[in-house]
Amino acid sequence: MSTEIAPLMGGQALGHLLRDEVFVGGRWRAGTGDVIETVDPSTGEVFARLHAADVEDVDEAVRAGERAARESGWRDAAPHERAAVLRRIGDAVERRADEISALQTLDTGKTRAETTALARSAAATFRYVAAAVETLEDQVTPPRGPYLTIATWEPVGVVASITPWNSPIASDAQKIAPALAAGNAVVAKPPAWAPWVTLFLARIAEDEGLPAGLLSVLPGPGRTVGEALVAHPGVGKLTFTGGTSTGRHLAHVAADKLMPATLELGGKSPTIVFEDADLTQTIAGLLFGIFSSSGQSCIAGSRIFVQRTIFDDLVARLVEATRRLRVGPGSDPRTQVAPLISHAHRDQVAAMVDAAVADGAQVLVGGALPSDPELADGAYYLPTIIAGVDNSATICQEEVFGPVAVVLPFDDEADLIAQANDSRYGLASGIWTADYRRIHRIARQLVAGTVYVNTYKQFSISTPFAGVRDSGMGVEKGREGIRSYMRQKSIYIDLSGEPLPWAAEQARAVDPTPVD
Ligand code: NAD
Repeated sequence: MSTEIAPLMGGQALGHLLRDEVFVGGRWRAGTGDVIETVDPSTGEVFARLHAADVEDVDEAVRAGERAARESGWRDAAPHERAAVLRRIGDAVERRADEISALQTLDTGKTRAETTALARSAAATFRYVAAAVETLEDQVTPPRGPYLTIATWEPVGVVASITPWNSPIASDAQKIAPALAAGNAVVAKPPAWAPWVTLFLARIAEDEGLPAGLLSVLPGPGRTVGEALVAHPGVGKLTFTGGTSTGRHLAHVAADKLMPATLELGGKSPTIVFEDADLTQTIAGLLFGIFSSSGQSCIAGSRIFVQRTIFDDLVARLVEATRRLRVGPGSDPRTQVAPLISHAHRDQVAAMVDAAVADGAQVLVGGALPSDPELADGAYYLPTIIAGVDNSATICQEEVFGPVAVVLPFDDEADLIAQANDSRYGLASGIWTADYRRIHRIARQLVAGTVYVNTYKQFSISTPFAGVRDSGMGVEKGREGIRSYMRQKSIYIDLSGEPLPWAAEQARAVDPTPVD
């Protein structure tokens, strides 16, 4: 069954990518769950309908994954053989980046520039992982007896990959590529709100020769499909990106099975501006750090700490620059701040700003829906800067996941570190200064998985990414990111040809071979 709607994005027809099918154990078919309507956030219009997956689909996908990993030869294939398939998938993602970008902009509202960059980064992820998996080595360890010991790694079996809606193609690649490279099967559960690019990625993987059953894609509600997937006895590892409360709950479900879990969760990242920073570079970095992706980024630089000596000047310039940002649909190449993922999410963001104002916060810019009538139907919210609160305020402690930053003054380094680290999160942070000694000092003291210095929101697939505190546990990306989908095994091989001394006498006494 195909959807009756055939939307266009920049003149590009996307109807052929919107079939009412999920991908279960190598078969394209309608999901057994309820119908999901997917909405273009820039207009509020439903552009496709999809029968979501349900719990029975989970069981079929996991069993097919177990079978495929075993019977297709994938589990035991040499790394360079798996790498060849992953490289082809990466190349095809690059070739089809334009379609992926158009589809993701339609589904999430993000700008074409962002979704193009995300599609290219997904291609790069497949290629990096293909190269890196060929460099992972087993170890021969020092023996303490007449044997050879090999510390080796093997796949965990079936991996559950659960992802949020904010950057689907990049989150998918970051999990699916290393999990497959490690020799596993993957059952991916994209969010019901933005299912289409993950399904498209599965079509590409199938076309490029990934054996059937190794990848299933089951868009559907977290509480049914996601929950059943994590709890399924056939699943050997969870990789999750999403909100902290969901991650914490799934960590319990995984712990109950003694199953490893990698969790990439929320953030409330501090960006810190010292008086000696290059202000043009800093302002561009602050704007990009909080307002790109309309602030719907786990590492959004949402708490901006500014040294008091330059606070008024920097904030005035930042507010003026924010006012000049171009708000519009993701399909318009001039747009910098696109709509949020949905009207419901936009209303939550607005409610958080309103609550801050009710608590005494001051809105310096934004804090409202755009007045442009052309944007009236979309899920837009103006880029917003808030002042007049201290770091203990709810707006400084809770993740907004929208285009909202708070500016806070600080006096000295001790005061700064105390405020910056006063958060339940620990995902990213930024420092803007020309003083290299200070960079080193502050970077070491910040509680965060990533520190950006005179730059922000850069991603390299070869560099590990992790969160601390309520921002998560485990590592993605880099070579460690592949290892995290494997488990260790040690093999002892006797080299002596002799019976073990403890029972040698008894064994020899019953030995049928004649003694000379
Ligand atoms: P979410 O936690 O609501 O949903 C994430 C995924 O989990 C979705 O696929 C959802 O369907 C699924 N899910 C929800 N409840 C579930 C359950 N009970 N069992 C199994 N699966 C369940 O998050 P969201 O609103 O989609 O995404 C925004 C959040 O993601 C933000 O907090 C953001 O910071 C975080 N995020 C983190 C990173 C990172 O790398 N640290 C990256 C992007 C987004």
